[in-house]
Amino acid sequence: MKWIYDLSLNELKNEIAALGLRDFISDQVFQWIYQKNVQNIKLWSNISKYNRELFLKQYSTLLNRLIDKIEDKLGTKKFLIELEDKNRIESVLIKEKNHYTFCISSQVGCALNCAFCATGKMGFIRNLSSGEILSQILILQKEIYDYNGKINIVFMGMGEPLLNYKNLKKALSIITSEKGIDFSPKNITVSTAGILNYIKQIEKDFPNIKISLSLNAPDNQIREQLMPVSKKENINNILDYFRNYKRKYKITFEYVLIKGINDSIQDAKKISQLLRRILCKINLIPYNENTNIEFKTPSKKNIEAFKEYLCLKGYTVVLRWSKGKDIKSACGQLATQIKEN
Ligand code: SAH
Repeated sequence: MKWIYDLSLNELKNEIAALGLRDFISDQVFQWIYQKNVQNIKLWSNISKYNRELFLKQYSTLLNRLIDKIEDKLGTKKFLIELEDKNRIESVLIKEKNHYTFCISSQVGCALNCAFCATGKMGFIRNLSSGEILSQILILQKEIYDYNGKINIVFMGMGEPLLNYKNLKKALSIITSEKGIDFSPKNITVSTAGILNYIKQIEKDFPNIKISLSLNAPDNQIREQLMPVSKKENINNILDYFRNYKRKYKITFEYVLIKGINDSIQDAKKISQLLRRILCKINLIPYNENTNIEFKTPSKKNIEAFKEYLCLKGYTVVLRWSKGKDIKSACGQLATQIKEN
């Protein structure tokens, strides 16, 4: 049996043709699974019983299994999802003032081993398939099935999305296509630690999807300590590219403020020079503490002073107190264990 969520529309069309069925049926199937979010093939009422039975024999339409859902006081919900091979991932549904945000994972674990991040401590286990990425979105959508307003999707869950580019691209095509989930690319953000070749690639493939770079340090030297990926991917090369490539939106820089490491006014000064002439926004994220990592959150006073400095230099700065901290679902707190036994 094939898992339907791993097929692109074209792949499904080819399979449907091979089964001797008419082409439009694949569009109808996409409508049921991605637009109506209905997994029970028996309910696909505009498809004949004969064809539905044929389908039942060929395809599994079940989403990945939701095994736990934890909610905090402000309505942020963390979803623990079990994959076919028993690996587990987390997705987060964040209730904002005027919209929802879906925080989606792209890998089980992560290879980048950023010093401050809980997912990094798991090591890299494997890439998610395109279907496993899509399945998270459909599971979160079920939670707010009667909501019609704006939804943002951010790839800020577990993993480095650009190191799973093939599957990410396949999923994004279905997420943004009219026949798929039909989300506006403008409401999608892919967050990366900075893999330059794939940043270039995704900007070609999806010019309206927003890129967010996890900067986290005022220069490459400090960045190498925090984010080993900077040994291969020098931040200055990435920033040069951002400076010179014309795009329709502002690049977002995420900056995790860690006490005594990257939170001084001197650091803010270096950042204001580093980001010169890049059309950007800066998101400051006070460090979310993790039990096994020694880093600490700076004082409110230092955080405000850091923000103030960059604002005075003319930058657009947003201070983002992460939601979901008390349920360990804030930035950099996502980590799962494989089910024992
Ligand atoms: N690998 C991608 C996607 C993960 S996004 C990336 O690096 O962008 C996770 C975001 O949370 C990143 O901006 C990261 O810098 C930030 N982050 C990681 N650990 C954190 C922590 N403990 N507290 C606050 N932010 C953290």
